[in-house]
Amino acid sequence: MSSILLFSLIALPYAPDALEPAISKETVEYHHGKHLQTYVDNLNKLIAGTEYESMPLEQIVASSQGAIFNNAGQILNHNLYFLQFAPNPLNANPLIPNPLAQAIIRDFGSFEAFQAEFEQKGVSLFGSGWVWLAADKDGRLVITQEPNAGNPVTKGLKPLLTMDVWEHAYYIDYRNRRAAHLHALWQIINWSEIERRYAE
Ligand code: MN
Repeated sequence: MSSILLFSLIALPYAPDALEPAISKETVEYHHGKHLQTYVDNLNKLIAGTEYESMPLEQIVASSQGAIFNNAGQILNHNLYFLQFAPNPLNANPLIPNPLAQAIIRDFGSFEAFQAEFEQKGVSLFGSGWVWLAADKDGRLVITQEPNAGNPVTKGLKPLLTMDVWEHAYYIDYRNRRAAHLHALWQIINWSEIERRYAE
């Protein structure tokens, strides 16, 4: 049995208070430092000595079930989540003409229509889970609702942007107001990163 721990907690490319007021320092510290750290610790224990030990994270998510899927999915989801944010001054303008912006307008009608549908699907997701913007193999964009640890990679889609609707993502700052939390997140989306994922 290997003693090498494959996965580690991602470092955030911003200070814990840099996303305020959309997300508070306290929420970032709990969400990243406690919740995500626990998923990393759990997965490393679960995969030690198994076939999953040498697999990339996305492959584990695509091929596992049960506790391994839940913890691997939550690591993949949170890595994509935390790395899509940037403080306001670094935020790229989402309306600059680029292939992603053109695809959003093509597939949703307008940027505002896309945002409205995305927020509505986040608000209406029952219980815990994630709302995603994802691309199919032809670059078509879809919004999916995934319960619990779900990720659109399990449907053969490329995950681009996500909002976490687990209560731990917003309860400290917004209490029960999930809709207000989701609406505020647009202020800190780093569209250059989403565009990079789309082009990859
Ligand atoms: Mn979370």
